[in-house]
Amino acid sequence: MAFKGVDYYGIEELLSDEEKMFRNAARGFLEKEVEPLVVNAFHKEELLNMKELAPKMGEVGMIGATIPQEYGGGGANYTQFGLLCQELERVDGALRSFVAVQSGLVMYPIWQFGTEEQKRKWLPQMASGKIIGCFGLTEPNRGSDVGGMETVAKKNGNVWVLNGAKEWISEASTADFALVYARTDEGVKAFLIPRGTEGFTQTFTDKKGAMRVGDVGTLALNDVKVPEEDVLPGSTRVKHVFACLNQARFGISWGAIGAAMSCYETALNYTKQREQFGAPIAAYQLVQRDLVNMLIEITKAQLLSYRLGRLLDAGKAKHQQISLAKKNNVEMARMCARTARSLLGANGCSYDYPPIRHMGNIEAVYTYQGTDFIHTLILGQDITGIQAFTRKL
Ligand SMILES: Cc1cc2nc3c(=O)[nH]c(=O)nc-3n(C[C@H](O)[C@H](O)[C@H](O)COP(=O)(O)OP(=O)(O)OC[C@H]3O[C@@H](n4cnc5c(N)ncnc54)[C@H](O)[C@@H]3O)c2cc1C
Repeated sequence: MAFKGVDYYGIEELLSDEEKMFRNAARGFLEKEVEPLVVNAFHKEELLNMKELAPKMGEVGMIGATIPQEYGGGGANYTQFGLLCQELERVDGALRSFVAVQSGLVMYPIWQFGTEEQKRKWLPQMASGKIIGCFGLTEPNRGSDVGGMETVAKKNGNVWVLNGAKEWISEASTADFALVYARTDEGVKAFLIPRGTEGFTQTFTDKKGAMRVGDVGTLALNDVKVPEEDVLPGSTRVKHVFACLNQARFGISWGAIGAAMSCYETALNYTKQREQFGAPIAAYQLVQRDLVNMLIEITKAQLLSYRLGRLLDAGKAKHQQISLAKKNNVEMARMCARTARSLLGANGCSYDYPPIRHMGNIEAVYTYQGTDFIHTLILGQDITGIQAFTRKL
């Protein structure tokens, strides 16, 4: 059966058979096993049970897709990872967030910057979904200004002592361990802290208006002792943090396409069936303009992310190009969610249709992994040679 999706420019022809099979398998699993759980969780205002779901996702190869197979990963290319993110977010952004955090923000730094022992200890278990990690960077007083982080780690013999707080952390209360960044005399380091460590508290943030089925919360660190063997030796600078963020930002650029596809397809079907003033509303020029605008923006976003995946696989992608795709595609998905919601009229406000879910989720995506403004400043600096992040008053 032909793949059902938004593909106005024949992107399908550019994908290998392996890439298409990977994506189709992901879609089949998600539509059958996961989408009903998401819709149910929304109606009941509950969280998805990731402890139950993650092992199933691990079994079908959704976790650590680009991590080498010798560490339990999928050994997939970036386009496959992107297509996976598209399919996940087509269902719900919280699913893509989970996979992007687990794969790009926790497994990737362990693989890139960890010791062989750390890789063997954590990566296979994470890839199987038996262990969930979270990524602790954002703090109550430091969000975009990553370099100004206030969490500190002081060395005492062979042990580091951490103090500080992290907030807005995905999977904070569910995670079996956290990868936490702290300032030290030797630079910004990454610490692996298991659940239950003395002085380490994981809390869930209730009642949020975005990513409602996903766990987001806080991490508190009060004299938390971390042995040297749980510090990633290769991660000592803020640029190493950004290397991880780039993985997740690339995934977001594809995830946004998934959310936008879901909104566009819902709006197209709905407007062809819904009749007002004696004709389907899709027969009216204003409605067609909105549908066409969505299609145009999705198509442009697909071409960006497709090319970016190929550049990453060739080792040629600049981080500014990742910023451009994240910024453009999230803004595109934001427009599509808003437009689809409005074309559905009052039904657009119901959880029986996906646009309003995507609308809330995409607001979080607009802010996390570098806000839209921050990516604008990254691009502004690249083209002018002048940084506009900081100013002296
Ligand atoms: C659902 C969700 C999940 C998240 N998951 C994680 C996670 O797993 N791990 C993690 O570490 N973090 C996570 N975050 C946090 C996220 O990465 C931060 O919210 C983000 O980096 C922005 O930081 P902030 O919210 O403190 O905003 P701020 O940095 O305070 O920014 C507020 C506003 O000021 C603007 N601004 C800031 N600096 C400038 C400037 N120089 N010029 C112009 N405008 C500027 C911003 O663009 C924004 O509009 C998550 C957030 C959400 C919503």
